[in-house]
Amino acid sequence: MGRIFLSSPHMSDEGYEQQFIQEAFDTNWIAPLGENVNKFEEELAEMVKAGHATALSSGTAAIHLALKAVGVGEGDIVFCQSLTFSATANPIIYERAKPVFIDSEPGTWNMDPKLLEEAFEKYTPKAVLVVHLYGLSAKIDEIKAICEKHNVPLIEDAAESLGTIYKNQWTGTFGDYGIFSFNGNKIITTSGGGMLVSDNEEGIAKAKFWATQAREPERHYQHEDIGYNYRMSNVVAGIGRGQLKVLENRVQQKRHIFDTYKKGLADIEEISFIDEMDEERANFWLSTIIIDSNKITPNMIIDALEEENIESRPIWKPMHLQPVFSKYDSIGGEVSEALFEKGICLPSDSKMTDEDLERVIKIIKSFWS
Ligand SMILES: *Cc1c(COP(=O)(O)O)cnc(C)c1O
Repeated sequence: MGRIFLSSPHMSDEGYEQQFIQEAFDTNWIAPLGENVNKFEEELAEMVKAGHATALSSGTAAIHLALKAVGVGEGDIVFCQSLTFSATANPIIYERAKPVFIDSEPGTWNMDPKLLEEAFEKYTPKAVLVVHLYGLSAKIDEIKAICEKHNVPLIEDAAESLGTIYKNQWTGTFGDYGIFSFNGNKIITTSGGGMLVSDNEEGIAKAKFWATQAREPERHYQHEDIGYNYRMSNVVAGIGRGQLKVLENRVQQKRHIFDTYKKGLADIEEISFIDEMDEERANFWLSTIIIDSNKITPNMIIDALEEENIESRPIWKPMHLQPVFSKYDSIGGEVSEALFEKGICLPSDSKMTDEDLERVIKIIKSFWS
């Protein structure tokens, strides 16, 4: 049997992606910029109801430019969720700023608003960087209110949560800037890429300018600022346009995967699942479980699945535990540490069949029988 993946690329059955790529070939726009890039930006912005968007080479690039757009620079403090992928925090260091890591709360696994308030008593940050981990929304309205109270810009890392809707609003559009990722493992993919969204037209224009080598609008090459080569290619954007057409479909399948695991493992008391908030429609990018047991560890289950050629992973290791970030301060930490210790990301590939899901459930259940 073929390998079952955590989350792998899933192109549309209709071949939309190849049609858009073909258009790029037919018009010889095999370059950064072009019709697919413009349309991908427009179509995504319209879908998530953001004022403006710019397509970039990665989600990491989008975080970097969001930090620059809100003015983060050398020596500035940025409050950053600790429980996340390192790509959230790395761009803070690119700008020679200093992260202060904030622990999660157990309900959403995302930034704890109480600890965020606490952090404001100790520091005056230049920005707050929150994550919607595994496609579940942070307590974003509370976090936004705290940021507004302190007059500090909010950036949402929605790399994992495209399609997650909270109180009728798409995650990634609550803050001053939001970012999405189209890396190969995300809910939709362009093989690699990202998007920066905002209602701030000037900010998005500035991000585009930096992403295009900070080239001034002159006939000759004029540079008054340091730039980056961060734009998305027109070929890659074609994949993105096709993938957007099946996003809702993928969300439904990811939700089905989560429901199937939840039902299938319901009678094992030592396993628990995260819940959506009221008025949330999560994309459940990855289904996760927590094992609360003296005998059975996540590693035992991950090993058993691996023996059957099934991929699973621990929960992200918090940034405040990462050697590369150990010199920075953190507010709290116990919640994300416990999640890291007890959690597993189950295979959540949208191509999985119900039989595949049953196989995974059976292997996990065998530990308790
Ligand atoms: C994937 C991911 C990113 C980075 O996106 P890339 O497109 O791979 O650069 C950032 N943050 C989180 C939480 C992610 O999961």
